[in-house]
Amino acid sequence: MAGVRRMGTGAQRSSEESCIFCKIRDRAAPSYIVYEDEKHIAFLDAFPFSNGHTLVCPKRHGETIWDMEETDIAELFQVASRVSKAVVAAVGADGFRFVQNNGEAANQVVAHVHVHVIPVKMADRGTFGGRRSFTPQEMDHTARGIRANIPAATN
Ligand SMILES: [Zn+2]
Repeated sequence: MAGVRRMGTGAQRSSEESCIFCKIRDRAAPSYIVYEDEKHIAFLDAFPFSNGHTLVCPKRHGETIWDMEETDIAELFQVASRVSKAVVAAVGADGFRFVQNNGEAANQVVAHVHVHVIPVKMADRGTFGGRRSFTPQEMDHTARGIRANIPAATN
């Protein structure tokens, strides 16, 4: 799109070949996948802010939300909403955050569009703590819980 300023993602500016999320999509990198359909994939964040922190991505590689068609942006958030219900149910959260960063200045770390779904409990209200670490067993247990709670598509 001529005239639209692109947001730099610095060293992370990447092609599909070097993109970790594309590798996860293609099963060329390990992850805990919790949801997948024709156009989207969701998996646990490897460096979660809370138990159940999930990333929802379009399968098609694009750096920022400006690289997507508006109808695809709408669909991405529909899927994120669906996934959020499963995440909240699986971990017994009291609320959740959507976070969607675009550009290095916004702390976008991986240059492939993604929506963070971050479940929050009342006890953690008002805080936005650092990255947490869970064992593979804990990650697997959480992923299974989310998968078991994915609601059926309504469209
Ligand atoms: Zn990618």
